[in-house]
Amino acid sequence: AKRSADDLRSPICCILGHVDTGKTKLLDCIRRTNVQEGEAGGITQQIGATYFPRENIIERTKDVRTKVEMKVPGLLVIDTPGHESFTNLRSRGSGLCDIAILVVDIMHGLEPQTIESLNLLKMRHTPFVVALNKVDRLYSWKSCPNAPITNAFEKQSRDVMNEFDRRLNQIITQIKEQGLNSELYYKNPDRRKYVSIVPTSAISGEGVPDLLMLLVTLTQQMMESKLMYISEVQCTVLEVKVVEGLGTTIDVILVNGVLHEGDQIVVCGMQGPIVTTIRALLTPHPMKEIRVKGQYLHHKELKAAQGIKLTAQGLEHAIAGTQLHVVGPDDDLEDIKEEAMEDMKNVMSRVDKSGEGVCVQASTLGSLEALLEFLKSPAVKIPVSGISIGPVHKRDVMRASVMLERKKKEYATILAFDVKVTPEAKDLAEELGVRIFTADIIYHLFDQFTAYMDNVKE
Ligand code: GDP
Ligand code: MG
Repeated sequence: AKRSADDLRSPICCILGHVDTGKTKLLDCIRRTNVQEGEAGGITQQIGATYFPRENIIERTKDVRTKVEMKVPGLLVIDTPGHESFTNLRSRGSGLCDIAILVVDIMHGLEPQTIESLNLLKMRHTPFVVALNKVDRLYSWKSCPNAPITNAFEKQSRDVMNEFDRRLNQIITQIKEQGLNSELYYKNPDRRKYVSIVPTSAISGEGVPDLLMLLVTLTQQMMESKLMYISEVQCTVLEVKVVEGLGTTIDVILVNGVLHEGDQIVVCGMQGPIVTTIRALLTPHPMKEIRVKGQYLHHKELKAAQGIKLTAQGLEHAIAGTQLHVVGPDDDLEDIKEEAMEDMKNVMSRVDKSGEGVCVQASTLGSLEALLEFLKSPAVKIPVSGISIGPVHKRDVMRASVMLERKKKEYATILAFDVKVTPEAKDLAEELGVRIFTADIIYHLFDQFTAYMDNVKE
């Protein structure tokens, strides 16, 4: 298949931001309003994602003043909002996400996870827009359900608009402090230099049409060639999960190409490359809640972009956040095995060669990378001697305990990001004198560790 501007795939969009800013609600709002009005418009629930087809977006954005012709077939929005997701959404070393929505609560401004998300977006060079959510909470806001934001603003009193402007300016300043320029989307002088801000309410839907239109406009204008459909498979493992009756499954986002039942695939595993065959390609039943057990449709083949659950033998040690490779008739299996382990090798190379340093552990390759990136930065500089993905087990504690015999006893420490610690590991750590710090915000780990280091020095 030739690449062409007439055959674009759906852009992939993810939602991130601090807890309680309204990420889930915003997605619900885009989805539900239509479903409730009985015009589902082909919206489909997918594994870890929701697909919004073109017709639906056109209907939803019909009153927006600045419209563009829609060339993309739809929008695939990644559902797993929160921490797990974004760091995981990688593809070929860059972000899997074509564009992101960073949700900010207008009443709270930038919060710790907003800043962490901002840094991740900068690091991955992912274009994004800010949804300045909960505008309906401005004192005496007049509700204008699902209206474009400019229409809604015309209905507001001067007091409401004054309060809005005051809060908006504060937030623009806070974003500036993070090194980025931003502006209301319809006043944005240059979309490549200023982040666009869209005021929204996930409860009454104001601004949601603008948000959808902006996502379409930006992806079409800024990344047309990246969106051209190609037959070469590009696929990222989102999650590795055991499902009753199916065994170990992997949830993947197929970004480009086609997957078939029976395809030979290679994925990156903790113990080396995993070579296996796709046994089943599954998606949820249309309009069924995806978390309902056992409700899957089987497919012979599926074309991008899609969220898919697949089953195959030997997936137990697959690593979330890595690429899935398909072995074609002309491919050399050894080459592909090597390519599949590339992601892991990159991360391994960040480990301190002196062998002195803390051990770090994270839930996925993506989050491990983010953590290593942070520890390496000039302001932090904490050396790392060992890394691992998944829960902290006894063997991880054993490995960290090696540092007890070195001069730097304080490095007998495990920094565990967003992972569980098994009770046996906890007991052993206590017995041996290994410290385990756990957190789900990266710099909280840093704070705990530096406080501990300062203590040790005294
Ligand atoms: P998440 O943690 O970012 O996914 O946030 P949720 O979507 O779970 O929302 C957190 C809380 O804020 C819930 O009680 C929502 O009902 C509420 N909320 C979300 N969006 C809005 C909004 O636009 N306006 C108002 N008034 N409340 C909202
Ligand atoms: Mg949520």
